Amino acid sequence: MTVAINDKPASPPDANPPDVSRLIDELTTLCGPTQVQVGGAIEPRFLQPARYGAGQAAVMVRPGSVEEAAAVLAVVARHGGRVVLQGAHTGLVRAATPTDGEREVLLSTDRLRQVFELDLLDRTLRVSAGFRLSEINERLAEHGLWFPVDLSADPSIGGMLAHNTGGTRMLRYGDVRANTLALQVALAEPAGQVLRWGQGLQKDNSALAVGQLFIGSSGSLGLITEATLKLSPLPRQRAVALVAPASLDAVFPVYQAVMQRWGVLVSAFEGLSRAALEAGLHGQDPARWFGGDLPDYAMLIELSSELPAEQLDLRGLLQGWLEEAFESGQVSDAVLDADEAIWGLRHHISEGLRAQGKVIGLDLSLPRRHFMRFRERGLAWLAAHFPELRLADFGHLGDGGMHFNMVWPSSAGPLDPAQELTLRQGLYALVAELGGSISAEHGVGPQLQAAYRAHWGAVAPAVLDWSGRLQTVFDPHKRLGNTDWGA
Ligand SMILES: Cc1cc2nc3c(=O)[nH]c(=O)nc-3n(C[C@H](O)[C@H](O)[C@H](O)COP(=O)(O)OP(=O)(O)OC[C@H]3O[C@@H](n4cnc5c(N)ncnc54)[C@H](O)[C@@H]3O)c2cc1C
Repeated sequence: MTVAINDKPASPPDANPPDVSRLIDELTTLCGPTQVQVGGAIEPRFLQPARYGAGQAAVMVRPGSVEEAAAVLAVVARHGGRVVLQGAHTGLVRAATPTDGEREVLLSTDRLRQVFELDLLDRTLRVSAGFRLSEINERLAEHGLWFPVDLSADPSIGGMLAHNTGGTRMLRYGDVRANTLALQVALAEPAGQVLRWGQGLQKDNSALAVGQLFIGSSGSLGLITEATLKLSPLPRQRAVALVAPASLDAVFPVYQAVMQRWGVLVSAFEGLSRAALEAGLHGQDPARWFGGDLPDYAMLIELSSELPAEQLDLRGLLQGWLEEAFESGQVSDAVLDADEAIWGLRHHISEGLRAQGKVIGLDLSLPRRHFMRFRERGLAWLAAHFPELRLADFGHLGDGGMHFNMVWPSSAGPLDPAQELTLRQGLYALVAELGGSISAEHGVGPQLQAAYRAHWGAVAPAVLDWSGRLQTVFDPHKRLGNTDWGA
């Protein structure tokens, strides 16, 4: 039996462009002239995403409170415009970058900073969506706490929620979803209605968890204005090793051994191919790493604890285990006592790859049992179809995540869009066959819109159907965002 949520078809966006000059006047009256920028005068940082080309918008507005933000949504709805929401603009799927210079209003959340309420007993933080992760963690550090979704960019809380960010320590702490207890949202329809989902409690089964739908919605269901986050104690010590397995076959046995031995003490388990290691070195002398002889694959293993080193010697534990693993033949080499340099290398990979040519990054996750199989089959597929491409995969191996990044060398000339489409289709088909995800942690957005439809259209069309219906409930006039969750 099919249950209709809302049988009304989504209205198409208004046919005529909005009266931009009236829209600008009203937004200026609402937020003040310094908080509104028009057309070509919009600062480049709002239009230029971290990857891909620049966008355009009719107008950019920076509301300074929840009330103003809600009123912006109402004004835009009244004029028949569309809104693209933007936090720190570090997203990697173009979901925060407007593209329509006639119709789109870019709403930046960077002035939504009114609430910062720490509850030390509950270990929660009620925080406005515009706060950046770095500032939150700086303020929390003095209380021995942090919001443990950790990455090498500095996103806003709203953007992290909208993309359900994962990061390097997801293995231990989970993603944003796992660390969110409540949300406040301004809706697209009724335009500007503000409501709160959840009460910020650890346990609460007293209502449907509707707020969860907004997490990972890529800015397409509503404007998240505030969240209540679950905090974790800041580790008092970390110990990091960069480990070369004896062979690729040893990688997951090592992962299992490490997890069985230390469980929650393992806070990161990353995988790095040789090409990724080389990119991470990015001009450094390779001699300090593995005596200059880089392995084909390496694992970054981090242990961390809230206990101080005098009570629990993590470095000693890691070293002792490495000696055993070396003797048993699972591990062939390792770098220890260089925690910051190891993380520095890891965080420089993307930058190093960009210096080599055009990067085509696939943000995948796979069941662990198929992780290496995908890598092997993906490499074979690339060799057969795109021999010019160099694979430099790396990522959060411990949680099944893989940045299957490839470099199209500058010397090969431009990669035309049809070729890139063929490339993505070939690899995504393999992902689907092995039960993986085409977007592990970066969201969907326009960049993955076609791939999203193709994937779910083949794997489970009902997912498209129901997702489209839900989007229609929250945004029947398609005024918000640039991700379409329907078929
Ligand atoms: C160097 C680098 C490293 C990265 N590493 C990782 C990583 O390890 N793991 C990972 O998961 N991601 C990673 N990212 C991607 C990116 O940082 C995350 O997706 C981040 O959460 C985006 O946050 P933002 O504030 O920049 O959002 P934006 O890019 O501004 O927006 C992202 C999406 O959120 C929507 N949005 C923004 N604010 C709101 C709001 N208040 N309400 C509703 N929707 C909103 C936008 O419309 C858009 O759809 C990395 C990016 C870079 C550049």
